[in-house]
Amino acid sequence: MTLLEVNHVSKQFGNETKALSDVNFSVSEGEFVSIIGPSGAGKSTLLRCINRMIDASNGEIIFDNMNVMNLKKKELKMVRTKIGMIFQHYNLVNRLSVIENTLHGNLGKKSTIAGALGLYSQEEKEQAVKILSTLGLDEHIYKRADQLSGGQKQRVGIARALIQNPRMMLCDEPIASLDPNSAKVIMDHLRNISTTMGITVLVNLHQVDVALKYSDRVIGINHGQVVFNGTPKDITKDD
Ligand code: ADP
Ligand code: ADP
Repeated sequence: MTLLEVNHVSKQFGNETKALSDVNFSVSEGEFVSIIGPSGAGKSTLLRCINRMIDASNGEIIFDNMNVMNLKKKELKMVRTKIGMIFQHYNLVNRLSVIENTLHGNLGKKSTIAGALGLYSQEEKEQAVKILSTLGLDEHIYKRADQLSGGQKQRVGIARALIQNPRMMLCDEPIASLDPNSAKVIMDHLRNISTTMGITVLVNLHQVDVALKYSDRVIGINHGQVVFNGTPKDITKDD
């Protein structure tokens, strides 16, 4: 089943920069798809259009049978809970603990004040601990986010996305700030989330080797256009 369809999507910034030109692709439920391309190709713009952080100029984005581009604020909020976002710079709240950062992702509700754990139910806290534990963060649950290494921070980012119970993870350069060992840990977790939990993963990467190793399918973007779309096997065969 198709979970995401991007049809004829273009994005123009101001009068000059055409960041995306007639982009077309679809992603199936549970699929792991990488988007690769050089810096400035339009990868980040594409992900930001999909979850409506920015509005595409033209085209159609269908997620779970809904046209994301037409959604009103309330519907959009609901759809965004189904899309977990992962960022290059983690976007954690530094002064909050790991578990608070994780729960904070749960619909972005409650408080961002440190020590606000009491605002969450026992069930919510247990769920957070469980997710953090599967990501190997048992020892760090009550540490402040700014005491963690980059690799650990990104695992908290994944936990914060997972607690929403998403259908899809949208990951914007999740390993670009990490050393190779931490990057492998993060990619292994993302792959595992797709394979064992059936969650669709769409990830922007600039490392072609990583994309080929982990993905079911790789979409290449250059100058805002799709330049290839195929399995890692298709791509290596052409080279
Ligand atoms: P990538 O993620 O592949 O590095 P981006 O999507 O960030 O590429 O950028 C694509 C193009 O759009 C670039 O030319 C970039 O400068 C431009 N761009 C991105 N965001 C904005 C913005 N907010 N305003 C103007 N131009 C932008
Ligand atoms: P990784 O390779 O996973 O990013 P690092 O080698 O950067 O890990 O960090 C190793 C250890 O150092 C981690 O256990 C982490 O808790 C600790 N650490 C890293 N950065 C900081 C920091 N700014 N403050 C406190 N501890 C840190």
